[in-house]
Amino acid sequence: MQNNILFVASECTPFVKTGGLADVVGSLPQVLNQHENTEVRVVLPLYEEIIEKWHEELEQVTSFVVPVGWRNQEAILYQLSYHGVVYYFIGNDYYFSRKGTYGYYDDGERFVFFSRAVIDALSLLDFKPNILHAHDWQAGLSVALANILQPIEALKTIFTIHNIKYQGIMPLDAFHELLNLPNDHIGGMEWNGLINCMKAGLYHADKITTVSPSYADEIKTTYFGEGLYPILNERHEDLVGIINGIDTDEYNPKTDQHIAFNYSHSRKKKKENKEDLQEKLGLPIDGEKPLYVMITRLVEQKGLHLVQAIIDEFLQEDVQFVLLGTGDYEFEDYFYHAAERNKDKLVAYLGFDEAIARQLYAASDFFVMPSLFEPCGLSQLIALQYKAVPIVRETGGLKDTITPYDEKTGTGNGFSFTNYNAHELLHVLRYALNIYHEPDHWATLQKNIIKSHFSWEDSSLEYIDFYQNILSTEEKTQD
Ligand code: ADP
Repeated sequence: MQNNILFVASECTPFVKTGGLADVVGSLPQVLNQHENTEVRVVLPLYEEIIEKWHEELEQVTSFVVPVGWRNQEAILYQLSYHGVVYYFIGNDYYFSRKGTYGYYDDGERFVFFSRAVIDALSLLDFKPNILHAHDWQAGLSVALANILQPIEALKTIFTIHNIKYQGIMPLDAFHELLNLPNDHIGGMEWNGLINCMKAGLYHADKITTVSPSYADEIKTTYFGEGLYPILNERHEDLVGIINGIDTDEYNPKTDQHIAFNYSHSRKKKKENKEDLQEKLGLPIDGEKPLYVMITRLVEQKGLHLVQAIIDEFLQEDVQFVLLGTGDYEFEDYFYHAAERNKDKLVAYLGFDEAIARQLYAASDFFVMPSLFEPCGLSQLIALQYKAVPIVRETGGLKDTITPYDEKTGTGNGFSFTNYNAHELLHVLRYALNIYHEPDHWATLQKNIIKSHFSWEDSSLEYIDFYQNILSTEEKTQD
């Protein structure tokens, strides 16, 4: 059977990225399209930064009118092809010609419009999907509308949770003001008296996936379920966790154009990258000095409170630490001042910068990721590609991808700690430093890292099976 799958998402490399969602939506379709009888296309909002960078490639397909409450909004549909994938873009100046992606007071309305436009576009495309695969809350309503409006015959739906913390919540009035649907559909979109776009996706989708097996278990609990665990328990038979992969052509130290010295296994070249970076960031230049790195959104999820608690104490060791990130003012302010206090040891690079990120992966000995929770995490996988040793907290996808180094058996591809506790983090940061100074253990650990492999090869096959199963199921589970 032919799998025609339309991905619906709010970000996707190389067009627009704020985090790992963009990496996944950017790389998975390219890999899936190499499988027989499978074509994935992707639909995204046309943000201003996409127009700026891609206007020469964008081709207008059509325009149509989208009802948003009592107003009619024009949607202009564009497309372009990139690396074997057709990308559609929904343009509307009012909603998307703005700086950046999210964080506007009317984000809910913007993604109501986007979701409705995607559904109304289905009959206009020269591509007839049999699966609509929506990603995270921004696309949740597209699943609900596909189920309610039935825009094309026998369309199956999949909703993937990349992070259950962000749910897209609006006042209940939004149902009448924005959605133009009969009242009996409120129940499938409402949660705790509010419209919840993620709940709408979870309720209406034929199947639900998330991005690691551990996270699939965790989100069924009160601690990790962010209030939505009752629905996930109700739908547990339809929920699976498939681990994310990374694009190993893109994240490849051998060919990466952003880094100073390309390498595959050479420690010498890695040290040269370190020295290059130290010079660039104004750190003392010493290729032997252990370098710890974090590249992250500066939000509570990423374990920054733990790092705050121990950073001054840890920096008494003979190490350097670089944090690249942007996000909550609380953390930006803290690390700015921490770097002022520790001038020769800590750099806080406050911004979002792909080139610096690559240079940090290439330069670092350790990649620190002490997350409070982590659906999958791609950064630790990218770190492995660049032979930086991940130091992680055992949660979600971090638990599924990083095995702690065991001195007795010589197994493991990183370091980890269990409890969300700053002194456990401090202990493991120091333990990792001891191993760094023990050449035999360090060499064994490096060999294990070279063997770790997190491309899309296996996970894309899991998706193919999943698509085939869903297409061979006659009955919808929800109506
Ligand atoms: P999340 O999706 O929760 O942000 P992931 O680990 O899954 O976390 O993915 C993060 C992605 O975003 C990685 O590709 C990482 O390199 C990138 N990234 C995060 N912060 C920055 C930054 N400040 N500058 C450049 N890239 C960043």
